[in-house]
Amino acid sequence: MQREHACDIFSLLYREYVHDDSRLCFLDFENPFEILVLTILSAQTTDATVNRIRDRLFLRYPDARALAAADVGEVEEIIRPTGFYHTKARNIIAASRCIVERFDGRVPATMTDLISLPGVGRKTANIVLNHAYGIHEGVAVDTHVKRLSRRLGFTGETDPDRIEQALLSLFPPSAWQYLNYLLISHGRRICTARHPKCGECILSHLCPSARRDDREEMPTNR
Ligand code: SF4
Repeated sequence: MQREHACDIFSLLYREYVHDDSRLCFLDFENPFEILVLTILSAQTTDATVNRIRDRLFLRYPDARALAAADVGEVEEIIRPTGFYHTKARNIIAASRCIVERFDGRVPATMTDLISLPGVGRKTANIVLNHAYGIHEGVAVDTHVKRLSRRLGFTGETDPDRIEQALLSLFPPSAWQYLNYLLISHGRRICTARHPKCGECILSHLCPSARRDDREEMPTNR
């Protein structure tokens, strides 16, 4: 895809979804520790589910030192609604211990250090860097970003790391901080996984996957 074409799509999405009060993040966090933990917990569940348990979790464990010393059973009980709670509890406790032992209790602010933490990959690290530290060196690729990047013709890749590299090549650095938010917003509202509403889509004239008939089933979750 031509950069100019991609930038036209970006401009339309930006105009549609970014407003003066847009926070560009769907998780309710107040500091780097909170967004790190919430992002780990958001795997395979909705942001709304994670936001619902946040108060209880951070009231009990307000920082990495508190969570590092937590009883795993108590943590599991609080985060159970987010699913996969055995693994997630182990990961957020282990990540907190690393933060205490290696980073003096502060969530690190580099990609290399972040992805060295248990349960943290590039997606989570990008979200923490972007929203907690204002460092925009990558794009968090989740299921919406993956689906829309392929449908919109940004890339044909399926691997999240390769999709991220394709996005970084296609868009100027000034766009990187918005891409995750824009593609998730559009993916939730219009370009849904099973029934994309192409007839209502502001990108239909630019999108190579646009369907003329909204009743037509999209054959794959591409
Ligand atoms: S035209 Fe259809 S497939 Fe393309 S972005 Fe819009 S809703 Fe998604």
